[in-house]
Amino acid sequence: MADRKEFTSKTRKAALARSGKRCEAEGAWYGLPAGERCTRDLAYGVEYDHIILDANSKDNSLENCAAVCPKCHAWKTANRDTPTAAKTVAQSLMGMKTRVKAKIASPPKAEKPAPKPLPPRRNLFQRLEQS
Ligand SMILES: [Zn+2]
Repeated sequence: MADRKEFTSKTRKAALARSGKRCEAEGAWYGLPAGERCTRDLAYGVEYDHIILDANSKDNSLENCAAVCPKCHAWKTANRDTPTAAKTVAQSLMGMKTRVKAKIASPPKAEKPAPKPLPPRRNLFQRLEQS
């Protein structure tokens, strides 16, 4: 994974000004109904989200910066900011600035599934070879 780069203060200020101090999270990408914007008041907390994951695009431009409320950011982090999710949806998200497509919607998951522990295969083989 590449180092996570952050937006410059200039970009953050511009994004906040663009948002009108209202959460810019929109559509299924942030767990909202398609085409619906959050608009929560950012006076209670604002976070700056890479709309397209920077691990894939390395895009820290204003166009890729969304001023969102902590709730929306947390939802996206939990449900979208994984390499698997990003790979499958990043391509179709390139047009998010103009239109959020309903087909990227998927049922929200409460939590990331915990990785399953690996079965003790080596021990099993050793036992079989000995017998
Ligand atoms: Zn929000």
